[in-house]
Amino acid sequence: MIYADNAATTKMSDRALETMMSLISTTYGNPSSLYEFGQKAKEVLEQARRDVAYAIGADPKEILFTSGGSEADNQALITAAKLGEAKGKKHIISTAFEHHAVLHTLKKLEKEGFEVTLLDVHSNGIVLPEQVEEAIREDTCLVTVMYANNEIGTIQPIREIGAVCRKHGVLFHTDAVQAVGHIKVNVEEDNIDMLSASGHKFHGPKGVGFLYAKKGIRLVNLIEGGAQEKGKRAGTENVPGIASMATALREAVSGLDEYKAKLTPVRDKIIKGLSEIPHSAINGDLEHRVPSNINFCFEGIEGESLLLLLDDKGIAASSGSACTSGSLDPSHVLLAIGRVHDVAHGSLRLSLGEDITDEDADYIINSVKEVVEYLRGFSPVWRDLVAGKTKFIL
Ligand SMILES: *Cc1c(COP(=O)(O)O)cnc(C)c1O
Repeated sequence: MIYADNAATTKMSDRALETMMSLISTTYGNPSSLYEFGQKAKEVLEQARRDVAYAIGADPKEILFTSGGSEADNQALITAAKLGEAKGKKHIISTAFEHHAVLHTLKKLEKEGFEVTLLDVHSNGIVLPEQVEEAIREDTCLVTVMYANNEIGTIQPIREIGAVCRKHGVLFHTDAVQAVGHIKVNVEEDNIDMLSASGHKFHGPKGVGFLYAKKGIRLVNLIEGGAQEKGKRAGTENVPGIASMATALREAVSGLDEYKAKLTPVRDKIIKGLSEIPHSAINGDLEHRVPSNINFCFEGIEGESLLLLLDDKGIAASSGSACTSGSLDPSHVLLAIGRVHDVAHGSLRLSLGEDITDEDADYIINSVKEVVEYLRGFSPVWRDLVAGKTKFIL
């Protein structure tokens, strides 16, 4: 069994799991309780906050724990919108290929009278700082651009975009869920005002994440109740989950160089192997790309069938298309980089983990080649392409 869907979620690391289990059984006090039992949990919580802050170059006071990346994205965008609205600024800039946690929050804000500009991400899946600068207006209250894309793995010029935002005095948020723990991220050097991250994308547990908000930004809370997280996020803290996430993040950040050195050659080998399939194309820039991501389109096939047959061969991968979620729309990310519907439907995302071997890479290449050929064998779309009734795009 080869697990190649690490962009969807990752396996918890041994140490993250140990941290979690030991805290669940021993340090189960409520961090808000004043007796020692509670204060022990509070100490664990604050140590986790220091560790997380250190990992991204922030101050512990700037870290707010959430239930994951989606909540952090929601809170960041709603905070910026409310702060903007108070000054009469109701324009937001983002990109066409953000995660739905951002896109759907923007839709909601549009219904509340905000105007949203979605920037083009070009065929290589990268937005340029110049585009951001051109789009900024007097009434812009927020720029939100993801650090690394979850489907095609492209890394955005975040530092430069951040610099443009600073120059114009506009708040800058980045959904860094696919970047934190995978590439170097430093909120200070990268000119970031708000950042979202999620534990389960870097070998921590699910249901835990964090929002970084630069000192001076008054967060709007989404959940009312007790005074936890300085009143910005009510609810008893998930201490074992938070500490476990901090352990996973410490490990991931200290191993970034080895991670890159290990995965990049395997990734590139698979990319080279799959490129040999006729009428196929890699999606997203090859250079500015996270070490784990491979994303291809194969003409004349359907991504869902490809996935199921790969599953039979013991390979867990993902397709960009959202057929499984009840809609027949292909991936908005692939459409954003200019893939037409038919081509976007035949997509495959492989997101590698550290345990991948060279033999796994060979097995993946051979399996995908075999399955693509098999599926094309009885695809009417492929038959028409070969017969010249329709034109090849790739
Ligand atoms: C996974 C993901 C999210 C959502 O994170 P959750 O912790 O699952 O809520 C948001 N943005 C990106 C880019 C992601 O990959």
